[in-house]
Amino acid sequence: MSETATPGTTGIVVTGASGRMGQMLIRLISETRGVRLAGALERAGHDWIGQDVGAAMGGGDLGVTVSDDALEVIAHAQAVIDFTAPAASVEFADLAAQARTVHVIGTTGFAPQDLSRIKAAARHAAIVRAGNMSMGVNLLTQLTRQVAAALDEDFDIEIVEAHHNQKVDAPSGTALMLGEAAAEGRGLSLDAASDRGRDGITGKRKRGDIGFTAIRGGDIVGEHDVLFAGAGERVTLRHVATDRAVFARGALKAALWGQGRPPGEYDMLDVLGMRG
Ligand code: NAP
Repeated sequence: MSETATPGTTGIVVTGASGRMGQMLIRLISETRGVRLAGALERAGHDWIGQDVGAAMGGGDLGVTVSDDALEVIAHAQAVIDFTAPAASVEFADLAAQARTVHVIGTTGFAPQDLSRIKAAARHAAIVRAGNMSMGVNLLTQLTRQVAAALDEDFDIEIVEAHHNQKVDAPSGTALMLGEAAAEGRGLSLDAASDRGRDGITGKRKRGDIGFTAIRGGDIVGEHDVLFAGAGERVTLRHVATDRAVFARGALKAALWGQGRPPGEYDMLDVLGMRG
């Protein structure tokens, strides 16, 4: 159920309310002026359904009851912020499109058919989707594109990422964003150049390939290195996230930026004005 609309504030629905990012977003929205939590969604059957979301998170009541009725909740909001799973996010994209509500998608791990559904939904509403919502990583993608263009294929590109042990997809959405940026800088297609999951007798590294390595352990929030390895020298571009709040702040910025935008697919480079 959504709370009563407060004039002059942007009503935001958080999906996956009990998740790591969901809880971070609910805290951020409840502490930010000019926005209000318009709904908290969880899947049908979840323990939190019917409880006040603030109390379910172990704090005071926030006046918003956790619901599984996505259509009803989204219809009364100006934006949906969604860090869940691909199967859920494509459904939310359809519902946000029906309601003409801005949909901010932080979820990663989409298959090509999911991306086609998101593209179709973006004909009706603004969708901002990014594998990483932080300012630092979006700057890193721009730097990666520039360095990849400046250094020729004598420099092998390797992308190394590290995340916590609960992460279900690999390589990370951010690593793929960085790979896309490196491929663009080199004038290549990432599909043709990417080298993922080396194991056993793999043969020598192919010139021009973009390699990916994923480390999983403990509570690592997110670390990404883009390595340019040449003969006798290496250049490394690095981003380290120490607090999930950077993703939540970026997502909230995107939800506000999207208000009044024409339907279409956008990313954080649009939101941050970094598209070069
Ligand atoms: P998490 O703690 O596992 O939370 C995911 C939440 O989504 C859970 O509440 C889960 O509910 C819910 N969910 C999953 N499938 C659902 C469905 N079919 N319907 C409704 N709810 C569903 O994960 P997280 O660490 O918050 O990350 C979530 C996603 O965001 C991942 O794809 C991650 O890679 C991505 N991420 C992106 C960024 C970025 O900047 N773009 C940053 C951090 C994370 P249950 O517990 O019931 O399954």
